[in-house]
Amino acid sequence: MKKRKALTIEDLGEFGFIARFSTDFLKNLPPTVLGIGDDCAVLPWKGRKKLLITTDLLVEEVHFLRDKISAADLGHKALAVNLSDIAAMGGRPRWAFLSIAIPTGTPIAWFDDFFRGWKRLGRRTGVHLLGGDTTASKGGLVINVVVAGETDQRYLKYRSAARPGDVVAVTGDLGDSEGGLRLILKKTSPAGLPPDERYLIRRHCRPRPHLEEGRFLARQPEVRAMMDVSDGIDSDLRRIMERSGCGVKIYLENLPLSPALKRCARRLGWNLDEVAAAGGEDYCLLLTVARNDFPALARRFYRRFRRPLAAIGLITDEKNRLRYFRNQLPVILGKSGFDHFKV
Ligand code: ADP
Ligand code: MG
Repeated sequence: MKKRKALTIEDLGEFGFIARFSTDFLKNLPPTVLGIGDDCAVLPWKGRKKLLITTDLLVEEVHFLRDKISAADLGHKALAVNLSDIAAMGGRPRWAFLSIAIPTGTPIAWFDDFFRGWKRLGRRTGVHLLGGDTTASKGGLVINVVVAGETDQRYLKYRSAARPGDVVAVTGDLGDSEGGLRLILKKTSPAGLPPDERYLIRRHCRPRPHLEEGRFLARQPEVRAMMDVSDGIDSDLRRIMERSGCGVKIYLENLPLSPALKRCARRLGWNLDEVAAAGGEDYCLLLTVARNDFPALARRFYRRFRRPLAAIGLITDEKNRLRYFRNQLPVILGKSGFDHFKV
């Protein structure tokens, strides 16, 4: 008899794996607690005030290469990616915990720089480091960060609130971080690089969490679903579709792209659609807005931030169906959003 191969993590992928175990842990939660499934967990606190908690893991050789990112940038990024999840819920970050597994021989000067990058962002965003854990690592460097924040119940924005007919929008350019990553992996040294390439690498190494944008959008009742772009819109939109029970149409000609990315893509032969839609780590916000209210909201957003709120598509009632178009014609992307086990 043929032996059946045991199911492995690659068969399920990152999100199939999370779905498989999370159902059990979502049972019997008090109705005031939001568990696994959104950018942050939401816990009751004081009256209408809610506590937001999020965590992210950065692993050497998986998320970063130590000779390709400065320690200060990594300190910034480890905190920034967590702040981005607080921004996605419309919250204000307050406290952080940092756990590190350190390979022997790591120079202390490296950590001095790491904390310099962390502290600068922590000071600017009002986040205090309250604790963590430090251990040795037999492999690479591992960094885990937990951030807690707060928000008012009235302003919480979930992934599950998208409705057919909503406009899909993003708060920043897409694909810069993926462009930066491709340049980093080309093994060139950043010194002496042309300005476009330096810009993209910086966007990859020092992402800016859209905290102000998140708080502004959270206060607008016409904003329905919101999350941050961490795995690329191709993957992140699937999370909105699953949670909201809907589909999405994306108009590729509307994806906001920086001039630097366009120029680099042309020069290096990158497929811009794939870089922008499937590339991860842009850490801007992805949201859906009641269609009739979108133009007025986009005007208010522009007045406040002097940047467009870019409409990139529409929510449909075709459950879990993500379709791309360019000039009304369907397009199949050659690449999907990021999944740790399906690369
Ligand atoms: P994000 O990119 O916003 O950090 P993900 O889309 O990666 O969130 O994760 C989806 C949800 O699954 C989140 O609510 C996250 O907290 C949860 N999750 C991911 N991994 C685990 C895990 N190992 N144990 C419990 N919950 C997890
Ligand atoms: Mg997120």
